[in-house]
This record gives sequence, structure tokens and C-alpha cells, in this order.
Amino acid sequence: MLPEFFDSMLELIVKTSTDLPPDVRAAMKVAWDIETPDTRAERALKIISVNIDQAAEDEGAICQDTGMPTFEIHVPRGADEIWMSEQIRLAVAEATRRGKLRPNSVDSITGKNSGNNLGPGTPVIHFHQWQQDAIEVKLLLKGGGCENCNAQYAVPVELPHLGRADRNLEGVRKCILHAVWQAQGKGCSPGAVGVCIGGDRTEGYSHAKAQLFRTLDDVNAEPVLAELEANIMGTVNTLGIGAMGFEGKSTLIGCKIGALNRLPASFFVSVAYDCWAFRRLGVVVDASTGAITQWQYRDPAVPAAPMAPHVDLRRAGRGISLTAPFSEAEIRALRVGDIVLLNGRMFTGRDSVHAYLMKHDPPVDLHGAALYHCGPVAIKEGDQWVMKAAGPTTSIREEPYQADVIRKFGVRAVIGKGGMGAKTLEALKECGAVYLNAIGGAAQFYARCIDRVDGVSLFEFGVPEAMWHLHVTDFPAIVTMDASGNSLHRDVEADSAKALAALKG
Ligand code: SF4
Repeated sequence: MLPEFFDSMLELIVKTSTDLPPDVRAAMKVAWDIETPDTRAERALKIISVNIDQAAEDEGAICQDTGMPTFEIHVPRGADEIWMSEQIRLAVAEATRRGKLRPNSVDSITGKNSGNNLGPGTPVIHFHQWQQDAIEVKLLLKGGGCENCNAQYAVPVELPHLGRADRNLEGVRKCILHAVWQAQGKGCSPGAVGVCIGGDRTEGYSHAKAQLFRTLDDVNAEPVLAELEANIMGTVNTLGIGAMGFEGKSTLIGCKIGALNRLPASFFVSVAYDCWAFRRLGVVVDASTGAITQWQYRDPAVPAAPMAPHVDLRRAGRGISLTAPFSEAEIRALRVGDIVLLNGRMFTGRDSVHAYLMKHDPPVDLHGAALYHCGPVAIKEGDQWVMKAAGPTTSIREEPYQADVIRKFGVRAVIGKGGMGAKTLEALKECGAVYLNAIGGAAQFYARCIDRVDGVSLFEFGVPEAMWHLHVTDFPAIVTMDASGNSLHRDVEADSAKALAALKG
């Protein structure tokens, strides 16, 4: 067998989770450079850049959602794929134990988290045979927030604000624009899209995701697709969605399009949306030892330059300091656009906790509390739980529950990313509560705002879904939905819809 294969796979996983490849860093640098200084979007990009540096320096997960590990492997004839799969699974479990991956594999019937990222369908491992002697392993870590923003269109189709998309490249263009618009900030924009024209439904999505293995700065070998990619990149930022959906100039950092033949009756356009935390690396390993002989997407001899070497967020930080539990008066005084610095107690809660609260009383007193939509990476060091990565998760998933939770239990501040809907906005107004948008994916940055973990409830839901009792200091977030009925998300969606209509062609 290959004595160094396990170590090589572990190194690939850890590096992919903690260090963004140079092409993504370069694209994010451009995104930051073109943004208007001192805007919400620019501040978000600043925090993201600091987070990228912190993750690389401390070898911490860039985002707490380390996604679905997806391995694409090329092997020479005669390679033992069964043994290699087992080694990869062991490496995934070890990376999870070390806190480099979040336990993300949930039994879809029982809801139980396997705790080690292993289970039916997890991780995804695809083998392909090739003529070369070496083994090539590429890895993509794509989180749930952006995965939920994927879209598939069966054209011809009538699209809101864009009209009919026909079975031609103009129709494809409309589908891509619609997918990006629909994602708003929920997939942690600025994002990148992989697109497949054609195929069947399954292969279409698969081929769209495969486009994400291309570097952001490559040029499509197919001239008409290269032209379409350039067209999208040249126009999409006029939508004004911006980083985190905060309204701004950087909405997309890449568009990569492939095509498959289709059945005469079908014409699918599949869009795989990835977030700014675009984690993708690869290695070539020696087929007799398993040792890494070459890295892909990065040159280990050229260390990545820091993204934000001169940024000191503590000094740059202006904001309204609030300490939980919050009073109704101080929350009602907040307005969309205010930056707040949260202190004191904060409870996490996401899908499982919200569903639980529909039928049970909370395990803690939530009156005046801050409820953080967050599924962290947490590991136990001695007797103490430590948060290794703790950024916000997509809030809209809790829309069916949030208004009831606010009304029944007196929550005053809901923290998450991507915003919430009309039902929640109504409850905020009625009860004197607020929605605070933290910066999606900034998991290292926010982990450093957590002084300690005071406890955990509902641990049976697994690490990401448990209710963690955190104590935070100067945890920054932006008011994007206030108790006066204002919603930045509603406004940006409406304004970008007008911009989308202008791209109708
Ligand atoms: S950056 Fe956002 S969308 Fe991407 S994995 Fe993290 S939370 Fe999910």
C-alpha cells in the first residue's frame, strides 16, 4: 500500500479548509479594491480579508461550515480505489477530530449527526481512471449556505424581472443572472458560479460543480462560452447586491460555464453557487508512496501575501455597545445601518433548536437575549469547550419559526446572515426586537470575539445544532432589520430587481 497516502490526504484537507488558494485571494482583493470605502459592503470585505489571514496564520477553518468534502480523483490503471477511499475517510474523520472540519454528516431519517463526517454519501469521492502514472486528488469544500443557493432551470422558462429565457445562449445568460440575483447575500457574496448548459438534471448539477475546479482567472477554451463568462462578469456587478447583500459593487468573483449534450426534449441550465470562502485545492501524489509531489492551485514555495496586513479592526471599530440582556428601549432605538458591538451572553440556535422550541420551553431564559444563528466548530480541550470557528449561518431557514420564538420567549436580538422575511420583520416591530447581520464565513474573526463557553444545551442535536452558551466581547454586527419595520434586505432585493430588469436585453 502507499505508506504516506493518509498523511497526504490529511494535509490536503487541512490546507483546503484553512488557506484560500491564490486565485480566490486575488479575486477577493479586487472585490475589496473596487468597493466604495467606508460602506457596509467595504467593511464586510475588510472583516472577510482579516478572517482569511487569521485562518491561514492559525490553521483554523476559514468558515465554520466546512461543507461537503468532495474529492475528484484521477488514478492510474490498477489503483486500489477501495483502499484509497478508506484512507480518505479516515483522514476526514481525523481532520474532524482536530477541529479542521465541522461534523457535518447528518442522518436524513433520524437527524443524528455521525460526529465524524462519515456516513452514506459523506464524503463524496469520485474516481476517474487516466493514462498517467501519478494519482491526482482535488478537493472542494462547499458549505450549505451557498449549496442552498444552487438553481436549476428547465428552459424555456419565464423568469421574474427578465422575461422568457429561451433555449439559446441568451436564455442561459438570463438564467445565470437570475440565480445570482436570487441568491442575494444568502450564499455569502461575493460568490462564484459554476454553470452547466444541458445534460440531464443529475449530470447538469454535477458538471456545474465541476466548473468550480477551474481557477477564477482562466479563460474558457470554448470561445462562445468564454464570451458568455465575460459578459456575465462584465454586467453582474451592476445588480448592486454587494458583499453579504449589503448593497455594493462586488457581487460575483467568478463565472465558469461548461456544456453537456442534452436530450432533445430537455434543456437544463444548472448553476452551482459557491461563496467567497471558495475552498478548493489539489495534490499530485506518488503512486508508489502516496507522498505529495506537487500542489495544485498553489505554490508552496510562494507563501500567500496577507490580505489585510494593515487593518486593525479594533481601532477602526465604531459602534453602539450593547450588553445582553437587552432592554426593549435600547433595541427600539436601533436603526438599519447601525453597527453594534455585542457583549455578554449569547445563545446559539439554528434549525434543530428552532424546531424544538415550537414544542418545548427553551433550556435557558431567552428574555432580552441574543440568539445567534450559528453552527460552530467546537472541540473539547480538557474539560473546557473551545470555539474554533463560529461565524453566522443563513437565517432565512428559520423564517417559519423565528416570529413565534421572538413572541413566545422574548428574544430581543437575532444574529445571523442573509436576512429574514416579512413574518420575522413583523414580529421584530411588534415585540421590539432586531435582526443583526454578522459577516458570513468570518468564522475565525467571530471565534476571537468569544471569551468563553459557559455551557451547552441540547447537545444531543450534535455540535453544529446544539444550543451553546457563549460569552462575547465587542462582537460586531450590522442592524439590517429594525423594530420600526425597516429591512435592508427587502430594499436591496427590490433595487437589484430593477437593475436585473435593466439587463433583460
Ligand atoms: S462562507 Fe457562508 S455560504 Fe460559505 S460555507 Fe461559510 S456560511 Fe456557508
